[in-house]
Amino acid sequence: PTMAHSKALLVLENFIGGKFVPCSSYIDSYNPSTGDVYCRVPDSGKEEVEAAVKAAKDAFPVWSSKSPLERSQILNKLADLIEHDLEAFAQAESKDQGKTITFARTVDIPRAVHNFRFFASSILHHVTECTEMPTLGCVHYTSRAPVGVAGLISPWNLPLYLLTWKIAPAIACGNTVVAKPSEMTSVTAWMMCKLMENAGVPPGVVNVVFGTGAKAGEALVCHPDVPLISFTGSTPTAQRIAENSAPHCKRLSLELGGKNPAIIFDDADLSQCIPTTVRSSFANQGEICLCTSRIFVQRGIYTEFLKRFVAEAKKWKTGDPSDPTIDVGALISKEHLEKVRNYVKKAQAEGARVLCGEGVDPLALPPGNQKGYFMLPTVIAEVKDESCCMQEEIFGPVTCVVAFDTEEEVIKRANGVKYGLAATVWSGNVGRVHRVAHRLQSGLVWTNCWLVRELNLPFGGMKASGIGREGAKDSYEFFTEVKTITIKH
Ligand code: NAD
Repeated sequence: PTMAHSKALLVLENFIGGKFVPCSSYIDSYNPSTGDVYCRVPDSGKEEVEAAVKAAKDAFPVWSSKSPLERSQILNKLADLIEHDLEAFAQAESKDQGKTITFARTVDIPRAVHNFRFFASSILHHVTECTEMPTLGCVHYTSRAPVGVAGLISPWNLPLYLLTWKIAPAIACGNTVVAKPSEMTSVTAWMMCKLMENAGVPPGVVNVVFGTGAKAGEALVCHPDVPLISFTGSTPTAQRIAENSAPHCKRLSLELGGKNPAIIFDDADLSQCIPTTVRSSFANQGEICLCTSRIFVQRGIYTEFLKRFVAEAKKWKTGDPSDPTIDVGALISKEHLEKVRNYVKKAQAEGARVLCGEGVDPLALPPGNQKGYFMLPTVIAEVKDESCCMQEEIFGPVTCVVAFDTEEEVIKRANGVKYGLAATVWSGNVGRVHRVAHRLQSGLVWTNCWLVRELNLPFGGMKASGIGREGAKDSYEFFTEVKTITIKH
């Protein structure tokens, strides 16, 4: 690039030991809504990861010996500083990721703030176990201590939201961290680093190394001084991470993909179910691991449901994500857009019917967004259960609607995929809702709602959707090492 060109661009730097450090090479990161280069991201590798791990190791003795209350106050300060800059963070997240400014303002950044406040509070309330053996004169109790340097790897769909969901519990528990955000969405992590000093986070407690998974990510996973890895991303990457950690017996938390069913019985309240299921299918362009992509509708209401569902989906406006009236922004990249479009083509080739969206309705974009990676919310019907569209995670604004007859049948079909992350069940019958929720192979089941999160309780997936859970108690247990101590008098 010419000087003029590179000058206009945002150039990110790694954050190591409390200092911003330039890198010897960089990669381009795009604004998905225009197709232009938005910033340059360090292309870190072993050397940068080495420096970051060293800084984190050096900071560990002091940070880990602080009281939970001291750490809590620092987390709260960091939350306040992010909240103070909420609008700037939201603008950056929207430009970097393609998501709508409204979603960034109301979901991503507020949740990042909340993640710090939540763990700042919950860290104060844990108790350990104690049990007595009076006849032997013994008391046993458990004690929990931070583990050391935590490696945190996050994806591009909810960049700051998911990164802070890891950083907050890790440092609240007294660990120090080396984080690697997705190379496609690094800007808000870099902005957050600028607030660390003012928040009172000591140098080396939070280090951020930017770069690709293959270089920076692997170097972090393979580093012998990083005993635990918390990863959110795709199932194939998790398999690679598990392989690379195996020689070191690392502790892993893996939050992975989903192929989430919505099960809609004929006694469901459609006036609530339809708008919520449109939202669960298309929120954040369908790029949320919890998004619905298989909708099972009981035969008696199938035709009516389809008609009303498609009408509701068509109300969602696709366009410039910086426009606050827009509902659907741009997909993360050109490659991803192609991948998502190909699923629709495959479904059509198999004889499925595309009822709205891709290839059916016109997509009108403002002049500045002609080269952006946009796609209309797309609803497909009559897809076979064994079709790749019903089996694989598409991770875009595409949802499939099929009919079912009985409770028994729909449970079997809903469970008939390799994933098991989140399901929704819609019915007015409490007994049925309980029965179905218990039998679904899914880490989360929402009945008559979607994405109502209670951060205290376990979050995570079954089967290929992950290993481990996150939440107040779960994250505390993951980010600490437990010891059982016996005292005899
Ligand atoms: P991805 O697996 O491609 O990348 C995730 C992160 O891992 C990125 O930071 C990437 O650079 C890094 N990475 C890639 N290869 C690596 C390697 N070999 N070693 C170490 N790190 C490596 O995922 P993505 O495309 O960024 O995100 C989308 C996926 O994330 C979807 O499958 C989605 O369902 C999943 N996801 C899951 C949850 C959840 O909580 N279960 C939440 C959000 C997203």
